[in-house]
Amino acid sequence: MSSCLFCDIAAGAIPCDRIHADDHLVAFRDIAPQAPTHILIIPRRHIASMAHFDGTEQDLAGAMLVLAAQIAAAEGLAEDGYRCVINCGDNGGQTVGHLHLHLLGGRSLSWPPG
Ligand code: 5GP
Ligand code: ZN
Repeated sequence: MSSCLFCDIAAGAIPCDRIHADDHLVAFRDIAPQAPTHILIIPRRHIASMAHFDGTEQDLAGAMLVLAAQIAAAEGLAEDGYRCVINCGDNGGQTVGHLHLHLLGGRSLSWPPG
């Protein structure tokens, strides 16, 4: 076990409802869904947040977005729409210190966020 929850989930040391895994990314359902579909996409590599990007993440960040669109389509969200969110740091509402993209869909989402 590492000291990072999502590193442990990526490694399979902590169970999750996993829907995708490849060499660089893992996607799984959020344990406390805020919408009918709520999926988290994480890099296998530990990156604490977007604030910890060092400028080498173009391919990884792009892959996260492309995977989000592919999963959204597979989950039947593309026609009605969905939202992708990356919370960063305390003011961003980040609670798990391993970069993750939220994919939310299946209901109408309000804007602006709280
Ligand atoms: P954040 O607030 O950091 O942007 O989002 C963290 C997300 O991780 C929350 O939506 C929370 O429900 C989810 N989460 C926290 N612990 C676990 C867990 O053990 N398993 C899963 N699947 N999701 C988790
Ligand atoms: Zn981690």
